[in-house]
Amino acid sequence: MSQADKMKQGQFTNPETPGYVGFANLPNQVHRKSVKKGFEFTLMVVGESGLGKSTLINSLFLTDLYPERVIPGAAGTTHTHTHTYIYKHTDSELTVVLHFVAYFFLLLEKIERTVQIEASTVEIEERGVKLRLTVVDTPGYGDAINSQDCFSTIISYIDDQFERYLHDESGLNRRHIVDNRVHCCFYFISPLGHGLKPLDVQFMKAIHNKVNVVPVIAKADTLTLRERERLKRRILDEIDEHGIKIYHLPDAESDEDEDFKEQTRILKASIPFAVVGSNQQIEAKGKKVRGRLYPWGVVEVENPEHNDFLKLRTMLITHMQDLQEVTQDLHYENFRSDRLKRGGRKGPEPEEMDKDMILQEKEAELRRMQEMIAKMQAQMQKQGDGEGDV
Ligand code: GDP
Repeated sequence: MSQADKMKQGQFTNPETPGYVGFANLPNQVHRKSVKKGFEFTLMVVGESGLGKSTLINSLFLTDLYPERVIPGAAGTTHTHTHTYIYKHTDSELTVVLHFVAYFFLLLEKIERTVQIEASTVEIEERGVKLRLTVVDTPGYGDAINSQDCFSTIISYIDDQFERYLHDESGLNRRHIVDNRVHCCFYFISPLGHGLKPLDVQFMKAIHNKVNVVPVIAKADTLTLRERERLKRRILDEIDEHGIKIYHLPDAESDEDEDFKEQTRILKASIPFAVVGSNQQIEAKGKKVRGRLYPWGVVEVENPEHNDFLKLRTMLITHMQDLQEVTQDLHYENFRSDRLKRGGRKGPEPEEMDKDMILQEKEAELRRMQEMIAKMQAQMQKQGDGEGDV
């Protein structure tokens, strides 16, 4: 055998470990391939306007996902529409009518207000690892009187991404599928309530079988530590009571190191994460930090003693793959099997169609009753006028 042949053969054998096949090296290959390809992740943020969603997202990824947006100065004043109508008995008839007309238009505006879906994608690279992050914001959520409309817009968006994936998966070009499925949804809860609002309960229940829901208490700096703990406990109790399925962090494997086990335990105990966001750099203890300045001091965003921001970020980063797996194995599978059961048909189940019909009948009945009452009122008015003339 020539020297060159000997060298070639030597490259593929390992004389020291004859029984060694070499697949122990496979994880490295998978790792290298994923690093080269980059990671794709889609995060949805839902919650009423002004709860600090965009600020938090910008703080989380140290990037400005919404450069064109104007961030208003006063806390909590954004897009919150409160319409007060005061009826005064002393008003002249014309003023009463004008008040009614104004009120009617305000109501109409509120009824017609719809939720929008805004998806922004950024490519972030850190030490050679690429992350294609899509953040789906839902401005206008909770602003309208009829919340069902905004629910259906958001649900349709989630379903459409599953639909697209299903279509691409069964198509010819399966190798380069872009995964736009929503892997996680941060649901923002107001710090001002005493727990969940009916809207929070209804929405989380409407999406919990479609996406991994992570509840977040917004603007935690407006609460004392005791209030925070009380609100957390209350929210968890209500989540349990209403049978809402939130994303559960998997337990750390027994062979993981102790630090990781401890981290997982702390993260689990912090749910729902009470967070603070800020777009400002403030001087604190001689250092520039992201924070919120108050007369009594600075609330630091990235200080675990001040709020759960870092825990939320750690949870997201360390569980990105698990969130993707649960999306694939549970939520997408649900969608796929549901679609197969219907023989590929889109739209509501026959049972849901029945529910829709019942609802429509009830609405028609209500309308008939309202018309009857209006007629009776008109008759009574006429009678009253007649008696007055006598
Ligand atoms: P969004 O409508 O939910 O996206 O809310 P924004 O991110 O636009 O924030 C609305 C307002 O709340 C802005 O004035 C922010 O400066 C303020 N804000 C954001 N995060 C916090 C927070 O953690 N604490 C307090 N106190 N205010 C915040």
